Amino acid sequence: MAGKRPNGRRIKSHRSYDVAEAARALGVAKGTVRRWLKEGLPCLKDQRPVLILGQDLKAFLDERRKPKQTCRIDECFCLSCKAPRRPAFDEVEFHPLTATGGNLRALCEHCATVMHKRVSMDGLNALKAILAVTDVQAETRLTDGNSPCTNDHLRKELQTYA
Ligand SMILES: [Zn+2]
Repeated sequence: MAGKRPNGRRIKSHRSYDVAEAARALGVAKGTVRRWLKEGLPCLKDQRPVLILGQDLKAFLDERRKPKQTCRIDECFCLSCKAPRRPAFDEVEFHPLTATGGNLRALCEHCATVMHKRVSMDGLNALKAILAVTDVQAETRLTDGNSPCTNDHLRKELQTYA
């Protein structure tokens, strides 16, 4: 069911589950469990039916229950995948907002959705060691000084096309 977060505490670490058993234990659809397998839930692939170790399932669910801030430094949270994803081509854009931080913009390597993430300057410097970071200067976003007016125009345009 949408919005309901499966709770890994219903899973016993020392058991193994096939897809139907895991779905029943957690109260989710079998399709949901199959999607988790595609999204990286470990399983014993040599077994038929596929068997999932209880401890792997618990760890996977615990990881998903954490807020999006738990993305690794080189990951952003993709709203389409509903999971942390690495940037496509290892490329991110950095849009400075303040003296101490700004926004990262990247494409999901899995589905090419635009992802955003706040980052501090310290985080940015660490990131530059791993990824190709393009600095986008703040001036390029504000091309004229009439921003309230520009916003009004934009709003009208959006209404026109709504
Ligand atoms: Zn994605």
